[in-house]
Amino acid sequence: MKTLLFILFSFLVSVSSYSQKIFGKDTLKASSGDVIITFIGHGSLLLQWGEQNIYIDPSSRKADLYKFPKADMLFVTHHHNDHCDPAALKALTNDGTKTFMSEIAHEKWNQGMVLYPEQQLSIDAVGITVLPAYNLVHKNEEGQPYHKKGQCNSYILTLGDLRIFIGGDTENTPEMKALKNIDAAFLPMKLPYTMNPAMVVDAVKGFKPNILYPYHYDRKMLPELTELMKQVPEVELRIRKN
Ligand code: ZN
Ligand code: ZN
Repeated sequence: MKTLLFILFSFLVSVSSYSQKIFGKDTLKASSGDVIITFIGHGSLLLQWGEQNIYIDPSSRKADLYKFPKADMLFVTHHHNDHCDPAALKALTNDGTKTFMSEIAHEKWNQGMVLYPEQQLSIDAVGITVLPAYNLVHKNEEGQPYHKKGQCNSYILTLGDLRIFIGGDTENTPEMKALKNIDAAFLPMKLPYTMNPAMVVDAVKGFKPNILYPYHYDRKMLPELTELMKQVPEVELRIRKN
């Protein structure tokens, strides 16, 4: 019996440390209320600010989202399956959830409200600004950008004093490089659909967020990014542990 209990105990310990390992967290400090970030893997994020649980591109591939708090707000950047996952929407939404999508994602899933580039609004004390996310360089075999301008959104969320930029699948666009007063920026770094490290650093040189979080990344590119970011010492690079 004792052995059985010990095995059970070890199993529970390993399960809890496993889940901590998967979901790295970080905190953005602000007098208007800290924002706790949970990295759910790939391009999926949970931002917790006060009572609000705000998700971006939740995916059920990496997590049992039924174990997560329901979404007060849920943002989908675009229609690709790794960003717009109906199983994740089902797991996280309830009657009170406000869901926002790009137009093409909305055509696919018909849920929530469409947000268009350049739109600005404020809902439940959350400021939302939409930017286009698109490819300038990387194209598919037919010569079309993987993400055409207008298909994919990036979002600036203003949570109290904090302005947080969440890049959809994008390259270093002029719209992004012209941003001002961004406290933290989440930028994708994966080829061929988004940016390589040099493109990420070019974008960062343009808009100088206080903190850069690479995400939706190819882990092999992290050393090159770390090296290149030495050119922009005023921007703090934060790489999640998992
Ligand atoms: Zn995509
Ligand atoms: Zn993607």
